[in-house]
Amino acid sequence: MRNFWQCCGSSIGIAQGAGCGKYLAQWMVHGQAEINMREFDPRRFGAYADNEYTRAKSFDDYENMFATPLPGEERDAGRPNRTTPLYETLKARGAVHTEAFGWERPKWFSPDGRQEEPGFRRNNVFGIVAGECRAVREHVGVMDLSSFAKCDVSGPDAPALLDRITANRMPRGPGGLVLTHMLSADGMIEGEVTITHLADDRFFVLSGVATELEVLDKLVQSVRDGEDVTTANVTDDYGMLVVAGPKSRELLARLTDADLANDRFPWLTGQQIDIAGVPCRALRVNYVGELGWELHAPMAQLAKLYDAIWNAGGDFAIADFGAYAVNSLRMEKAYRGLGSELTNEITLIEADMARFVAFDKGDFIGKKATQSRQDSQLSTRLVYAEVDAGDSDILGGEPVFQGSDVVGVCTSGGYGHVVRKSLAFAYVDPQFSDPGTVLEVQILGERYPLRTLGEPAYDPQNTKMRG
Ligand SMILES: Cc1cc2nc3c(=O)[nH]c(=O)nc-3n(C[C@H](O)[C@H](O)[C@H](O)COP(=O)(O)OP(=O)(O)OC[C@H]3O[C@@H](n4cnc5c(N)ncnc54)[C@H](O)[C@@H]3O)c2cc1C
Repeated sequence: MRNFWQCCGSSIGIAQGAGCGKYLAQWMVHGQAEINMREFDPRRFGAYADNEYTRAKSFDDYENMFATPLPGEERDAGRPNRTTPLYETLKARGAVHTEAFGWERPKWFSPDGRQEEPGFRRNNVFGIVAGECRAVREHVGVMDLSSFAKCDVSGPDAPALLDRITANRMPRGPGGLVLTHMLSADGMIEGEVTITHLADDRFFVLSGVATELEVLDKLVQSVRDGEDVTTANVTDDYGMLVVAGPKSRELLARLTDADLANDRFPWLTGQQIDIAGVPCRALRVNYVGELGWELHAPMAQLAKLYDAIWNAGGDFAIADFGAYAVNSLRMEKAYRGLGSELTNEITLIEADMARFVAFDKGDFIGKKATQSRQDSQLSTRLVYAEVDAGDSDILGGEPVFQGSDVVGVCTSGGYGHVVRKSLAFAYVDPQFSDPGTVLEVQILGERYPLRTLGEPAYDPQNTKMRG
């Protein structure tokens, strides 16, 4: 609803504190708080957080109030909540799920039923995730990523609306797709979406799992009086399988009459095709940096699609992969994450993503502010780096030092299993952001060298994805 705010879902001290009031007031007056208030935003929960779920989580939260949550730990209260038709199948294959916006998402695949030993250091899943990563880089992998938030946006004014609320150039025509960002009037990053132009005035807008309601709000509330745009949240209607790896084309070619050759189905395009008789919105894009497709199919037919892919993939040593592998693979490609590297506290300039801003297109929300940020002295800048880590990789939040001075903070990281490097993103004082700068990062009380990199550790020219 327009002009309706909520301050809820926080415990009593924080909810009644002056700070919370201040940032809520900023949000009401300026449309945005000056710091990242994501953990207070009621839209961090969706309709899935019904009474039963909320009750289970509330009890669990109080019971664990003074426990230190460990990386890798799963809390089972209220789960499973949102599942896809593949949930049981994947579990039977060893999938260990994690929860995101109510969804059960495969995190890794246990070959022998053993569970993860949670902790801050590398643990028993390290080698298994390495295998999942290698399968994607060397053969082909498949992952159920149905949890992506999905909207159909259509109507005569849909192109104008989408163009106005996003920073990148719109797709060139039907079949085109772009990665683009939604900004505040101050140029701060509010969302990241992939827009595919399906046909005429119909668009498919994808965003990360946790921003389902924020993106929906933005789409609905940005429509001007008199504009004719229809937005439908189709998140639960479409499942999605990522099929990625050098053998993905050969594999899918066995299941479709569609021409998947590079000139007929290039990188960063989408087509409606049938795969194993299942109608799919096939997009040639992925977050792992390989030749591959996202296949968005009717949820009810997801299992049929998965079985067909799996059966056709035997010759290619197809493997399931999960969210741990995705994190490793995206770190190798230096792909930023919304909520960690991309937040409403910075613009695309600090995030070193100016190439995603079409300064030469017409006006869009946040354009002027982004332009002036580009011309001004920055106070912080994103760097991508390799870390001479010991047995613990960057999770986010670790301080970065130059001598005895703290000059930055890590936002996320992980071990790149194929490039064999521990990788990190950090925001640092811009004077230390040149590639090759050596700084130090503190992990679990110890300092380790951190070297800034000028390009992705894996396939910097994107030859794999374009291939
Ligand atoms: C031990 C403890 C446990 C708690 N547990 C809970 C809990 O479990 N759940 C819960 O809801 N609440 C809890 N509370 C209460 C909760 O932390 C507070 O109600 C809440 O933090 C108040 O928020 P605030 O933003 O108004 O103030 P604060 O969080 O106190 O923020 C005020 C800020 O202003 C800064 N400041 C002060 N003077 C100046 C100045 N002159 N110039 C610049 N900056 C200044 C301070 O450094 C501080 O960062 C707990 C409090 C304590 C002490």
